Amino acid sequence: MDHLGRVRRLQEQLSRHRLDSLLVTHLPNVRYLCGFTGSAGYLIVSERGAVFFTDGRYTSQAREEVSGARVVIGGKAPLLSAAEWLGKQRATTQAKKPQVLGIEGEVLSVAARKRLLEALPTGFRLRAAPQLVEQARMLKDAEEIQRIRAAVTLSASLFPTALQTIRPGVTENEVAATMEYTARKAGASGMSFPTIIASGARSALAHGRASEQPIPGEGFVLCDFGVILAGYCSDMTRTVYVGRATEDARALYEAVREAQQAAVEAVRPGISAGEVDQAARKPLKKRSLAKFFTHSTGHGVGLEIHEAPRVATGQPEVLRPGMVITIEPGLYIAGKWGVRIEDMVLVTEHGCDVLTPTSKQFTAI
Ligand code: ZN
Ligand code: ZN
Repeated sequence: MDHLGRVRRLQEQLSRHRLDSLLVTHLPNVRYLCGFTGSAGYLIVSERGAVFFTDGRYTSQAREEVSGARVVIGGKAPLLSAAEWLGKQRATTQAKKPQVLGIEGEVLSVAARKRLLEALPTGFRLRAAPQLVEQARMLKDAEEIQRIRAAVTLSASLFPTALQTIRPGVTENEVAATMEYTARKAGASGMSFPTIIASGARSALAHGRASEQPIPGEGFVLCDFGVILAGYCSDMTRTVYVGRATEDARALYEAVREAQQAAVEAVRPGISAGEVDQAARKPLKKRSLAKFFTHSTGHGVGLEIHEAPRVATGQPEVLRPGMVITIEPGLYIAGKWGVRIEDMVLVTEHGCDVLTPTSKQFTAI
């Protein structure tokens, strides 16, 4: 991964936002900028470069993984080591005017902010920085796209396992467990979120985690799942029908399929995320079903399962080649059933590439 290039581009952003340095504390951002995959490590980026702070537990891991940044193994918590280092730097430069240290306001806790302020010498001002790293992470480079494709392929390969396991009387947990076991055996480091297997009336819960409920003899089973492979997440949903499908069930499914297709077809560079969301809602409005689509159309995926951009009503973010987003409209009729279909798509120069290879035909088991 091009850590040095990422740090350089961030450095350019710092002066534009009048920040002397940025303290990166959100671990996926730390990983993005320097490669560290552990659970305790912070990065300071300034015009002089990037310095990574961790503690003794990560000495060898940091030396192995981190590139594009100097590594400091401190004897205390990484936040305090970082504060100490900043203080020393300031003393050597003998700068008079206050140094503006950007922090990640969405991530750094109030308690950590207080500890940081106490540890810093006078002459520092903290400022919540714009989400510069998150914005950079929206555009995936070739190596990231390759990893995302591999994660998508692996998760798609789990769906036949689900189809073989889904039978009336089998619990949702058993379906999820079989898929998760298969995923780990195939090389995934884990699932990207707790697997959703929601059957019968539970399919109307947009986020119905797999439960001890046995799959009923009749109704939809919503399967939403993804893996983490080489650090990158995947996310897909397919909904199948158990039993003999009624016209009602088919009509609901086809309405979601049409909405999903309309949104996928809308994805291209230059369109806003909000317009893609509208493209999913339009066919549902025509059928007076829009009120049953109760969440946003999609989200970015990468090092995190949910990242920028949000594909939701009114979102002004303009799509650009290299963005990877989900398109996942759903309809949920409380107490009865629900359907969702979700693909991951890559924004390309002229439109988009649907990464998820799995069929979206109505499937009855
Ligand atoms: Zn999903
Ligand atoms: Zn999703």
